[in-house]
Amino acid sequence: MRPARALIDLQALRHNYRIAREVTGAKALAVIKADAYGHGAVRCAQALQAEADGFAVACIEEALELRAAGIQSPVLLLEGFFEADELALIVEHDLWCVVHSLWQLEAIEQAALSKPLTVWLKLDSGMHRVGLHPKDYPAAYQRLLASGKVAEIVLMSHFARADELHAQSSAEQVAVFEAARQGLAAEVSLRNSPAVLGWPEIKSDWVRPGIMLYGATPFEEANAVAERLQPVMTLESKVISVRELPAGEPIGYGARFITDKPMRIGVVAMGYADGYPRQAPTGTPVLVAGKLSRLLGRVSMDMLCIDLTDVPEAGLGSTVELWGKNILASDVAKCADTIPYQIFCNLRRVPRLYSEG
Ligand SMILES: *Cc1c(COP(=O)(O)O)cnc(C)c1O
Repeated sequence: MRPARALIDLQALRHNYRIAREVTGAKALAVIKADAYGHGAVRCAQALQAEADGFAVACIEEALELRAAGIQSPVLLLEGFFEADELALIVEHDLWCVVHSLWQLEAIEQAALSKPLTVWLKLDSGMHRVGLHPKDYPAAYQRLLASGKVAEIVLMSHFARADELHAQSSAEQVAVFEAARQGLAAEVSLRNSPAVLGWPEIKSDWVRPGIMLYGATPFEEANAVAERLQPVMTLESKVISVRELPAGEPIGYGARFITDKPMRIGVVAMGYADGYPRQAPTGTPVLVAGKLSRLLGRVSMDMLCIDLTDVPEAGLGSTVELWGKNILASDVAKCADTIPYQIFCNLRRVPRLYSEG
């Protein structure tokens, strides 16, 4: 059996969820869209359901997967419905629904619903992706109430730059939000992971932690709360071949690395088809036989090469951690010029093995 695998520590997931609640004192929707950022949405939901206030996903397909697996907690559709005919299923399966556009509001007004909805009414407070314009926001709220189709409304917005701890932008977005929601008596949800970890002063009855649940920091800089997170996923494999090369020999596609001295090279069963980033350059950290080492040359589809020169105890069959408790996914992401969100979501082909930690 190919030795590549992703170990998922569900105890760490719960630990991180508790931190989101503890540091905010808020209710927390665990964001498990995109198959829980590659960690497996159903297993993550099962691990959290006894304590989570609810879950958030990107679309009804993801929500129905949770319901089919028996998850009965509240589930929020972060983009609401994409077509009005999803409303019947939203009601049937008791899903909560973001309304981010006027066409969705109109669809709710016109729908015949057997039960009233819970709507999270989204304001565009400055990110300019989705959300209602501030001038339309109070009226949209009143129309939802007047429609008779809605039992409960939560007021929400989303930050564009909460991961930049010195940017003014989040405070400006909060000001736009506060102005737009003047006089509307409803709960509020603003904070994603970077805002949970880095912006304690922002009030939010509900928080929406995603990446922090999986134990990765959204920040470039150090952050005291992020230090307390525990990585949930360990991506590991084994050395399947070892060779000793003299100086001056090329390694892998494109000869992107040339030995600069006599070297010992390990080939690892892990490649970009597993989701390991092809952009990761020579020098990207790996852990082999418990020691820090580095990637060499280009990542192939199914294999990559690492430096065993200074790790004589490593050899055929040695375990290699690509990211996890020792090699942070955020550090690998930075080497590959991307973010931990993307390297988690890209995980493919690798079997996921779950443990309670
Ligand atoms: C994905 C998402 C989140 C979670 O973001 P993280 O940065 O992973 O915490 C929160 N809110 C909305 C609207 C999202 O789309």
